[in-house]
Amino acid sequence: MPLNRRFRRVIRIGPVQVGTANDHWGREKHTAACTAPRCGFSADYD
Ligand SMILES: [Zn+2]
Repeated sequence: MPLNRRFRRVIRIGPVQVGTANDHWGREKHTAACTAPRCGFSADYD
């Protein structure tokens, strides 16, 4: 699961993982990625 490497914290809500990471300016960024087969949903949030 390469998703986990980028994030300092990963939570899971059903099939959706939400990772929290800091960008180059130290701001928190959140990325949601669905792990369901054939879904491929992912989205970035501030
Ligand atoms: Zn999905």
